[in-house]
Amino acid sequence: MNLQLNDKVVLVTGGAKGIGAAIVRALAEESAVPVILDRDAEAANALHSELRAKGMPSHVHVTELGSPVNCEDAVRQILKRTKRLDALVNNAGVNDGVGLENGNPEQFVRSLERNLFHYYNLAHFALPALKQAGGSIVNIASKTAVTGQGGTSGYVAAKGAILGLTREWAAELAPCGVRVNAVVPAEVMTPLYRQWLDSFSNPEEKLKSINAKIPLGHRMTTAEEIASTVVFLISGKATHTTGQHLFVDGGYVHLDRALS
Ligand code: NAP
Repeated sequence: MNLQLNDKVVLVTGGAKGIGAAIVRALAEESAVPVILDRDAEAANALHSELRAKGMPSHVHVTELGSPVNCEDAVRQILKRTKRLDALVNNAGVNDGVGLENGNPEQFVRSLERNLFHYYNLAHFALPALKQAGGSIVNIASKTAVTGQGGTSGYVAAKGAILGLTREWAAELAPCGVRVNAVVPAEVMTPLYRQWLDSFSNPEEKLKSINAKIPLGHRMTTAEEIASTVVFLISGKATHTTGQHLFVDGGYVHLDRALS
């Protein structure tokens, strides 16, 4: 299947590691030109070199997305180099455990800055280029937006808002042909997930109990499986798909608990 992604420039936030890196690799495989935006310069440059060694073009932009000024500057600098932007994948985020009891109002706002505000800021600043390209946006959310998790109000508020904004932006941007969709992962082994798992006294037991609850295959979703869905949504094969929340989770959120 030709996904019609040849030479399309796609900005992937948090593109150096985990799900973001898998999206970057999948885009490169489809002859798109990924822009790896991340605060981890070493990991971003390593991925850039990996792709270059395979003859696949990419760009790197290192910044902390927590400030709107950085978001505006990132879009400006990237456009200076690429001259076009066909898609934005809002992916960077961290489940930072700012809860109702174990947090405070200032920490709650910081959590929204880490997980939500840059999704809006990048979409806002990239919009003229996306309109010009007839492009699209994919927002990475989390199952916690619909299931809750406990002890992580900031993260869950951000992910819930991301699902809402996906519909809102799809409505606002339909007249100019820009599509907006969300991909909702549940359990994906990434550096961030490993860190969380290792905070338990018996991580391997915990992992076993999580796998047992995933109906399809009793295993975690791979980052590559999330990436395939993201790439499809950006592609020329999804041109009438907008405002959708796609759960790529082995049935974790919607299927009967009796299956676990
Ligand atoms: P990850 O392994 O931590 O990779 C994310 C990358 O983004 C890291 O390189 C990280 O840098 C970078 N990053 C994070 N915040 C940033 C910021 N403010 N500015 C610049 N770079 C930033 O995370 P992941 O597990 O792949 O998660 C990716 C997305 O999927 C997140 O939105 C997460 O909420 C969502 N998600 C993941 C899972 C899962 O099971 N893994 C489940 C549901 C949803 P540092 O390493 O320096 O933080």
